Amino acid sequence: MKTQVLPVTESSLAMAAKIINDGGLVGMPTETVYGLAANALNAQAALRVFEAKGRPADNPLIVHAAEVEEIPPLVRAIPEAARRLMDAFWPGPMTLILPKADCIPKEVSAGLDTVGIRLPKSRAARALIRAAGCPIAAPSGNRSGRPSPTTAQHMLEDMDGRIPLILDDGPCEVGVESSVIDATGEVPVILRPGGITPEMVQAVLGRVSVDEHVMSPLAEGDVARSPGMKYRHYAPKAKTVIFEGERDRVIAAICARYDAATAAGERVAILGFDEHDFGGRTRISLGHAGHPQDAAARLFAALRELDERGETLALCEAVDTAGIGLAVMNRMGRAAAFDIEHV
Ligand code: AMP
Ligand code: MG
Repeated sequence: MKTQVLPVTESSLAMAAKIINDGGLVGMPTETVYGLAANALNAQAALRVFEAKGRPADNPLIVHAAEVEEIPPLVRAIPEAARRLMDAFWPGPMTLILPKADCIPKEVSAGLDTVGIRLPKSRAARALIRAAGCPIAAPSGNRSGRPSPTTAQHMLEDMDGRIPLILDDGPCEVGVESSVIDATGEVPVILRPGGITPEMVQAVLGRVSVDEHVMSPLAEGDVARSPGMKYRHYAPKAKTVIFEGERDRVIAAICARYDAATAAGERVAILGFDEHDFGGRTRISLGHAGHPQDAAARLFAALRELDERGETLALCEAVDTAGIGLAVMNRMGRAAAFDIEHV
């Protein structure tokens, strides 16, 4: 199969909608990352998503709608706290876990009694959902275990020959996947941090809870509240280590490790901020220090670049976990298997 990459136009949207209505898969731009889109009401189409990604069958897909009015038929209930989050943050980078209605096939929810629902802000994504006329199941458009794609080109790297079409709407604005919030109980719990931050949820609900596994690996015997927590994600081939602490000590520790590893024959790259002086050592930029949104937008591309360059060791500057920094550290932490050095 030849994979076409087309800009978002009326005719490419119509092509994409037809593919989805016929049970096929399309690369869909959103404000978070590129998604692998299928008709969320078609079990066969959902199975094709798992196959194209190589995704474990127990990791559910998120269902995307274009309008709030499309949500009630997809769920059995919308608790009050969920309603307030919807009003505050949709359309936007937030997925709410809600009790699923029967129309959502078990293939989409991976057998769970709940379903993740999101109203994306991206105009291209909303236009595609409207054109298709059905809710769209879309996980991130990477092959399982690879960093999520934040450009159409990255999605093509992973999906070339597996799907007929990727809609190209340029680089994603947010750059990390949506915040996943379990809204089935009285106190919503953030299962995966993203563009809608704990501080933002706190401001709307007056309380917030963040799952303990956001910044720690699952231990043997721990139950994952979100199946995605179980899997090693975003893993570059390079061994990845994060350095956390006072800025100058972090820079010194990274430089020392870099030199020792290079002397030992490793290919090393630093993931660091533009303002920090690493003395000419190889650096892949995370953007401006103190701008965690820069790091969010660049992290996945940086992880892909490590592999392209054949690096064997990546030394990363930690980001403060305030705001979207928590989402950055969650993804960086998982890429590093939570190997964090406090200096
Ligand atoms: P992705 O679509 O690749 O961004 O991944 C979706 C994430 O949402 C994964 O981490 C899933 O485990 C999580 N997720 C989706 N549906 C549910 C659900 N019903 N309950 C808990 N987590 C979910
Ligand atoms: Mg994913």
